[in-house]
Amino acid sequence: MRYVCLSFLTCIVLSSCQVPSSISYDPVSLTDGTDTKSWEPLVVGLEAPTWDQIKPPSGIPGWDKEIDATYFSIKTSEKVLAITFDDGPHGVNTPRLLDMLKKRNIKATFYVVGNMIKNSYGPDVLRRIVAEGHEIGNHTVTHATLSRQSDSVLRKELQDAHDMILDITGVAPRTMRPPGGAIKNDQKKLMMSEFGYPTVLWTVDPEDWKRPGASVVTSRLVNGARPGAILLVHDLHEPTVDAMPSTLDQLLAQGYRFVTVTELIMMDES
Ligand SMILES: [Zn+2]
Repeated sequence: MRYVCLSFLTCIVLSSCQVPSSISYDPVSLTDGTDTKSWEPLVVGLEAPTWDQIKPPSGIPGWDKEIDATYFSIKTSEKVLAITFDDGPHGVNTPRLLDMLKKRNIKATFYVVGNMIKNSYGPDVLRRIVAEGHEIGNHTVTHATLSRQSDSVLRKELQDAHDMILDITGVAPRTMRPPGGAIKNDQKKLMMSEFGYPTVLWTVDPEDWKRPGASVVTSRLVNGARPGAILLVHDLHEPTVDAMPSTLDQLLAQGYRFVTVTELIMMDES
């Protein structure tokens, strides 16, 4: 029975957060004409330390409190949410989204994909995300299904994306989200001990990547919101970004405030 339940859960999780096959990368190699090492590190935005520079009381690199291996949400009575945008950055939809967030003074978290950062616009969008106070999380380089990968592939997927984000923005990612939510427990332990990454999943998945229409995305997010929830959407998709003004305004009107994933984890009362 336990096996059946776990299998069912895995199927549900795997159905989410897919990069559609229609995405075409426009790879402009960061080492081909763009020397990322020459970028001036940003001194604005989040001041997250790099995980290899501090030794926190928790013993987990990068964190100064005990953290869980996995977060679907946090325990809190405060009306606080973390909204997360996966699979970008996108050259048009991400800047459009950033305008919407800025207008409302909302901070979000972006689980970016390394191969998307390699697009010609990628570094500029990434730097804007950080400059405007948002958080960037690690979503691998190739959007690989990590549960099927060896430890060495897992390390490379995470390390390369980590280094790319750090080189371009000057800020190290603090958390990771496995593509499709597919990850094994021993892989979580490895990521925690070697990268200081908790695995961040989600509370509400409106399945926006299936393009159900902006109003449906909005109603699923608004109806699913509760204190301490993590909302999952994809800034890759135009209709998802179209859904944001109404979604954000309704949640703000209900008294919710938005924090980044790291800020949310630090508020966990469990
Ligand atoms: Zn994804």
